[in-house]
Amino acid sequence: MFDLVLKNGTVVDSDRMYEADVYIKNGKVGAICERGEEFLAETAVDVKGKLLFPGAVDSHMHIGEYKADYEEMDTATAAAVVGGVTCLIDMPVNQQCPSIVNEELFEEKRKHLEEKSYADFCMWGALIPDNIDKLKGMHDLGAIAFKSFLPGGGADFPAPNMARVRKALQTISEFGGMAGFHCEDNWIIQEGSAYMVENKLNTRQAFLDSRPLVAEMVATRDIIELARETKAKVHICHVSHPAVAKMIAEAKREGVDITAETCVHYLVFSKDDLIKKGCLYKCAPPLREKEAADELWKYVEDGTFTSVASDHSPGMPENRDDSKRPIYEVGNGISGVQTMFQTYFDAAVKRGLPPTLLARTLAEGPAKRFGIYGQKGAIQVGFDADIVVFDVDKAWEVKAEELYYKQKISAYVGLKGTGAPIATYLRGKLVAKDGKLVEKTGCGQFVTAES
Ligand SMILES: [Zn+2]
Repeated sequence: MFDLVLKNGTVVDSDRMYEADVYIKNGKVGAICERGEEFLAETAVDVKGKLLFPGAVDSHMHIGEYKADYEEMDTATAAAVVGGVTCLIDMPVNQQCPSIVNEELFEEKRKHLEEKSYADFCMWGALIPDNIDKLKGMHDLGAIAFKSFLPGGGADFPAPNMARVRKALQTISEFGGMAGFHCEDNWIIQEGSAYMVENKLNTRQAFLDSRPLVAEMVATRDIIELARETKAKVHICHVSHPAVAKMIAEAKREGVDITAETCVHYLVFSKDDLIKKGCLYKCAPPLREKEAADELWKYVEDGTFTSVASDHSPGMPENRDDSKRPIYEVGNGISGVQTMFQTYFDAAVKRGLPPTLLARTLAEGPAKRFGIYGQKGAIQVGFDADIVVFDVDKAWEVKAEELYYKQKISAYVGLKGTGAPIATYLRGKLVAKDGKLVEKTGCGQFVTAES
């Protein structure tokens, strides 16, 4: 006897779609019946006409604000499951809580997340200049990869120089881990920022000019060469431009163990949105030209990007407003986890791309690269029953009051489209339905890579 069966839906894999009944037992997919075979199940839910996607694995999310009032673990993770993200990979740096640079901080944050998260979660550890001796310890505690911020991320998340990165990659390579990088060259960014401040250049265009594409290319080139030499596994975070994707695709072909992600905002927005609509569109690397956004899709399609992520980065409204403060003091980041799935789906369909692309880049790709495939990443027997029931005909408009974020601000508010998650199952349990959280308490589990 199975616990639950989702009947008559269309399962979306990374390479095909097929009609089937999906049986669930003890939180796992127990059977998938394509040809009318039937089993007993305690509960049956008819999902005829709906797509069944594997729950999204968001490889890039900032949620650790357990000491702040602009986002909390429960609000961010509620937003995640409502939006079809069943497993998120939490970034080790957030504006209001310490960066996860050692084992103690890693354990503290894991406990907070276990108490509060509505989604299953993995954790990045931080890589900074002076914590290379802590990386193995965090790896042993389950850190899924190590994030480094090449342009520097504040007092407790400083930028390593390339000598430190090289040493870190040698160390990480020895224990079989992976490093991920925010690629913008520290010197170019610092000089660009200093120039803006000195000359009081308080325009949105000045901000864009301070973070040029070449900064992203220089930093990515450095990481490619160090990965080539050390043979370490590396992942390039939030690639904003096709020229960077092209470098990564070439490095891959040459045998460098490199993967990359882009984010939905680089695919659907452009720098014109920042200039015309304001600083909810301010992020780093910054949004690029419309033509670049269009061309970036090519690298989503051809597999250069193993994942499409949200880079969900919340902020207080007053800190996102350049009428209240100079733009160089306005925070970066876009809140997008709740709307990632539907906006990506809508934009992909409008380009004539198939739903299988989403199964690959939102689930299978990140799950494989981060070593959790087999638990997460597909609807297959033995995998966790993380399933998103998706209505391809559902028309939507993103409304601020429907966002679960603590601060209900997002670049996506006002966007309209078609196709959205209507139910999210986490390990077989219904956690969200029709855009609403139905689970009462955090039930997310810590997920580590299978060795
Ligand atoms: Zn980020």
